[in-house]
Amino acid sequence: MLNRAKGAFVGLAIGDALGAPVQFKKRGSFKITYYTSGGRYKVKVGEYTDDTAMALCLGDSLLRKGFDLKDQLDTYLKWLEDGLFSSKHKAFDIGQTVFRSLSNYKRKGDLISPLRNEKFSGNGSIMRLAPVVIYFHTDFEKAVFYSGESSKTTHSSPIAVDSAKLLGAILWWFINGSKKDEVLAKIQKLSFHPALSDITGGSFLHKKEDEIKSSGYAIDTLEAALWCFYNTNSFEKGLIKAVNLGDDADTVGAVYGQIAGAYYGIDNIDEKLIRPVKNHELILQMAENLYKKGLNEFSKQ
Ligand SMILES: [Mg+2]
Repeated sequence: MLNRAKGAFVGLAIGDALGAPVQFKKRGSFKITYYTSGGRYKVKVGEYTDDTAMALCLGDSLLRKGFDLKDQLDTYLKWLEDGLFSSKHKAFDIGQTVFRSLSNYKRKGDLISPLRNEKFSGNGSIMRLAPVVIYFHTDFEKAVFYSGESSKTTHSSPIAVDSAKLLGAILWWFINGSKKDEVLAKIQKLSFHPALSDITGGSFLHKKEDEIKSSGYAIDTLEAALWCFYNTNSFEKGLIKAVNLGDDADTVGAVYGQIAGAYYGIDNIDEKLIRPVKNHELILQMAENLYKKGLNEFSKQ
């Protein structure tokens, strides 16, 4: 299922890069069908934002150290301060909760963000999740557990942590070959924070577009991404729907891209969507390295 693992990681970057120029725009005020440039951060075609940069930091840390919160934070700091893995010469599109958590880590060394209040349940930890699930792709329990743990460095509220666990479960099932309706049935049996019960109940199947919010709240983002995924039948169709929701378009795109990429796999993503993404070869190589490292370390004999 390497094909699906690669799809999940590059899908994240595709959604991020496609949504970046229209981030913060009001739904209905624009319509894009392919990569473009501009937006608040004046991105060029194919330049991704914090979502992909932080995912690359997380993947790089997993490859060097296994699952190590301190190293993850040190690597995020290198992105924040030195632009490591950024698509430009420095970090940009830095979320408030990420910034405060990393600053707190630098001052006090806390491995878990102290921002545990519900109001800090942004989508900053689900946007970067794919590398964790790829690394733990042979073991469902570990994948879900460490998805939650990976959130805590910057997003430690119970809603943010459980959103990461839910997305981790969904990605794991798709990377391992589950069908769309199988995953729908399986998520209903999961037990998470009550705020996630609409999603696990399949809310996104029946909602209309004006009932779907594309805000930076983790639950809104997850629901929006699943709505785009379950109401379309190709990677590209759902992707276009996701970024055109506007508002937090890059992260809705990044979360959609992880889910849809894991389901459709890299072979069903058009080359024209992959090639323009900055560092796409690095992203695909990292996905493969994480997959192989996980296979070596965790496959049950
Ligand atoms: Mg972003």
